[in-house]
Amino acid sequence: MGVDAEYGRVVMAGRPEIVSVPALSDNYIWLLHDPASGHTACVDPGDGAAALAAADTRGWRINQVLITHWHPDHTAGIAAVVGATGAEVWGPEAEREKFAGLNHGLVDGDAVAVGRWTAQVWHVPGHTLGHIAFIMADAGVAFTGDTLFAGGCGRLFEGTPEQMFASLQRLATLPDETLVHAAHEYTVSNYRFAAHAFPGDAAIERRLAEVEALRQQGEITLPTTIGEEKASNPFLRARDAAEFALLRTGKDSFR
Ligand SMILES: [Zn+2]
Repeated sequence: MGVDAEYGRVVMAGRPEIVSVPALSDNYIWLLHDPASGHTACVDPGDGAAALAAADTRGWRINQVLITHWHPDHTAGIAAVVGATGAEVWGPEAEREKFAGLNHGLVDGDAVAVGRWTAQVWHVPGHTLGHIAFIMADAGVAFTGDTLFAGGCGRLFEGTPEQMFASLQRLATLPDETLVHAAHEYTVSNYRFAAHAFPGDAAIERRLAEVEALRQQGEITLPTTIGEEKASNPFLRARDAAEFALLRTGKDSFR
């Protein structure tokens, strides 16, 4: 499907309201709200109290929890959110045994209704083996958990460089204007590494200046877009898994 057709679908379905909830040291929980139906989804509630408070402030009631992977900073708040709201929980079937509270196990190719939109489930292994992303083409948004960050990507705790490279290349096939909601505020650190790895790179220097200014003003650097990441994220620009692996090893030890 071409970009124009995608854009047409976004216009017809309208955009959801999406709110970032800072949690723990550098996580973002995302709330997605459909004003027409009142449906509210919560992505990766690492802190249930923070998610509930953010919803309450807006008069929203969370009725759906979406999980990208099992790590506790993405799942520790499930019980609190479900206890307070009765929400049901969708997440990776492959990681069912690794966290509590999963109602609906998902695999690659599944589709989940989220308000009046539909999230396609993409299996994007690398950070963890069961990691999934929620791709909402009809809303023009994606939730990428700890796979794709602004200017970076997740560490390879469970997967191989080949797996993560393939996952990132798959995300790079989304339309450039897709809004990418990642789960951490690592952007300045990511672009400091990028500027170190690619000195003098104009796209990286422009982006580093932008995100440093945002953080100095206390602003969030997300969402980003697929187009921006293809231009300035070294991990998306890597030409093959070997180049990706060298970058990932370099970032792991970069201070
Ligand atoms: Zn993680």
